[in-house]
Amino acid sequence: MRKVAIIGAGQMGSGIAQTVAQNGINVMLSDIELAVAETAKGGIEKALGKLVGRGKIEVTDAEAALSRITPIADNAAMADADLIIEAATEQEAIKRKIFEAAGKVLSADAIMASNTSSIPITRMANYAPDPERFIGLHFFNPVPVMGLIEVIPGLATAQNTTDRITAFAESLGKEVVLSQDEPGFVVNRILLPMINEAIFVLGQSTANIEDIDKGCRLGLNHPMGPLQLADFVGLDTCFEIIKVLYDTTGDSKYRPAPLLVKYVEAGWLGRKTGRGFYDYSGEAPVPTR
Ligand code: NAD
Repeated sequence: MRKVAIIGAGQMGSGIAQTVAQNGINVMLSDIELAVAETAKGGIEKALGKLVGRGKIEVTDAEAALSRITPIADNAAMADADLIIEAATEQEAIKRKIFEAAGKVLSADAIMASNTSSIPITRMANYAPDPERFIGLHFFNPVPVMGLIEVIPGLATAQNTTDRITAFAESLGKEVVLSQDEPGFVVNRILLPMINEAIFVLGQSTANIEDIDKGCRLGLNHPMGPLQLADFVGLDTCFEIIKVLYDTTGDSKYRPAPLLVKYVEAGWLGRKTGRGFYDYSGEAPVPTR
């Protein structure tokens, strides 16, 4: 791949842009407004600056990576892209509009991929101009740090598309897990029920936030507890994923924890809004219950 376009410049789109650019590939980054993509580029500049400060990368490499990222205002420039990666809000209606609009400029050989955490790839492929060149490409957060990418071919995805996307993912220095197009794929199918259950445990006052997270850190040897991880993923995103698992399987074991719904309704979405199960306004996160 020589040129990659990324639609959605939130925490995932920014991380993907940084990683792709650090691997020598030119990136176009877009969001609902040019200003959002420009702000995201500013965030990437800071992240690269931290890596330089810690001696992880050379200043010249950071500058080169940053120079490869171009915030763009509309889809026209994407006609030049070999790959368009959608990393927008986890709502099918939003993604559908993006695929239909960007599909109008997708070049004849280019691939369209979704970073969705849970929405069926086979269904979304119908919103793209060519389902054979549509695929799931699921990064993990934070993208520059995490070593895994899930690749999810839909029913109509061509083998050639899967091969090219797997090679691309590996060229970013990541390991690939191939998943069939089932709700939540592999990792989130396992993770989200655990996060949701932790929120049930909290809602039933079995233990407080600190102890639930401590229990999983020390008792399961997880690097962070499920409530801290939920804040990190974004509680809106967690809610959307568990809802997809519930809606697509009809299995009541996936019903969203009522406390998760309340937090999302309150706009307490985790780190990105400064408050979720923890309050992030001070130097260290403080549990809120
Ligand atoms: P986020 O809320 O940080 O960012 C979403 C971005 O999409 C926002 O900047 C928003 O303005 C933009 N957006 C919304 N509608 C748009 C449109 N029509 N056109 C262009 N941009 C639009 O969310 P995120 O955590 O970056 O998640 C993005 C996607 O990545 C979701 O599908 C999510 O499920 C998936 N994902 C998230 C994680 C995670 O840990 N957060 C991990 C893997 C995959």
